Amino acid sequence: MSTTYDVIVVGSGPAGACAAWRLAQAGVAVAVLEQAALPRYKTCGGGLVGRAMQALPLDVRHVTEQECHTAQLSFLRAGLSFTTHRPTPIISMTMRDQFDYALLSAAQTAGAVVHQQCAVEKASFDSDVVTLTTNRGSMKAKFVIAADGALSTVARTMGMADGRVLIPALEYEVTVPPDQLDRFQNTARFDFDLLPHGYAWAFPKRQHLSIGVLSMAQRGSDLKSSMARYLDLLGCRSIMQVERHGFVIPIRPRRGPFVDKRILLVGDAAGFADPVTGEGITFAIQSGLLAAQSLIETHLEEQSVRQAYAHALAETILPELRTGRWLAQLLYNWPRTKSWAFAQHGQRLCEAVTDVMAGTRTYRELAFNSRSLLKLLTPNWFRKSAYRPAPSRDGQV
Ligand SMILES: Cc1cc2nc3c(=O)[nH]c(=O)nc-3n(C[C@H](O)[C@H](O)[C@H](O)COP(=O)(O)OP(=O)(O)OC[C@H]3O[C@@H](n4cnc5c(N)ncnc54)[C@H](O)[C@@H]3O)c2cc1C
Repeated sequence: MSTTYDVIVVGSGPAGACAAWRLAQAGVAVAVLEQAALPRYKTCGGGLVGRAMQALPLDVRHVTEQECHTAQLSFLRAGLSFTTHRPTPIISMTMRDQFDYALLSAAQTAGAVVHQQCAVEKASFDSDVVTLTTNRGSMKAKFVIAADGALSTVARTMGMADGRVLIPALEYEVTVPPDQLDRFQNTARFDFDLLPHGYAWAFPKRQHLSIGVLSMAQRGSDLKSSMARYLDLLGCRSIMQVERHGFVIPIRPRRGPFVDKRILLVGDAAGFADPVTGEGITFAIQSGLLAAQSLIETHLEEQSVRQAYAHALAETILPELRTGRWLAQLLYNWPRTKSWAFAQHGQRLCEAVTDVMAGTRTYRELAFNSRSLLKLLTPNWFRKSAYRPAPSRDGQV
């Protein structure tokens, strides 16, 4: 096959497809290598939160199966349940095969070349060229965007520093009779306390439910029995069909650098999933677009690319993830503080989390604004010992 491009993107998930689309739009010679036959299933809830929709440069309403304007968050141990509503969808439900393929098709239309069933086995760097060894021969590029997900072969074979935290998650695609499916319509449901350091969710799709569970603890969680209990709790007793899937989510970024030897890391390969929710599509899209933009603006000049991408991440995704990690501590590792906070101000906290999902506020705005909810709700002793606020954008804490 033809083997030399300006940029090769490895992986056609949201990070890779968005990067390829932006590069192709700018007239850069770009190819996407995808190991699977397309469209391919991806283990995922397929929930596109409002902030992901805002980040998307393309209209994907044709692959949206349901729009949820309502979210229900329940804390089972305390018997608390809160419902939030928004005029625009809090989460739009998709199946990832359709969603990812819609993004990739747009990239292809813009001029990106797509090689499917082309698995990268090894990446290497020599004399300003990156060589990718694949099951279909070797290919060369001036730059490579590693969008090959949580297990990134590109990053591993290039020896890039890791330090990510990969957590386990299960996703079951569950078909139930129509009368049972109807109960879940138009609401995204989240249930806490089913397992010690995680949560479960039920997302309604057109013909079935995507039901999942994750644990923020890397080991020691019996997710399968948590899932069995959850199906029971949801009243899914007459299951007609179930497909079981499991994978990992990286909830802590790599140590960096995120560009090295002409390789740019994006999405799960970089470790950019949200540490509070495990939601990864928003920052996959954003990082894919930022990586592409860094290449375009600097006309593929190595040193400038490195600086531009590092700067873009430091201004946007990385501080948001840092703040998210602090909030995740509160939610998953401080059960008594969490119970106290939700018992006192559960509705306000759920509204705040909904705002972040909907994209109308950021974690940083929540945590560091002078009159923020979390500042009000966090006990003084905790703030003094663990809370070191960074300056907000206007320089105020
Ligand atoms: C159970 C579960 C539920 C989740 N639910 C949600 C949710 O509801 N909403 C949300 O926002 N996030 C969710 N996530 C997280 C989300 O799925 C990821 O963060 C997101 O898919 C990351 O996108 P990406 O483009 O970086 O990587 P991916 O989507 O993983 O895409 C990587 C692509 O690279 C390809 N690839 C891998 N290796 C190679 C190779 N060697 N050569 C060629 N191609 C390769 C893969 O086939 C794949 O197509 C969930 C994750 C899990 C595990």
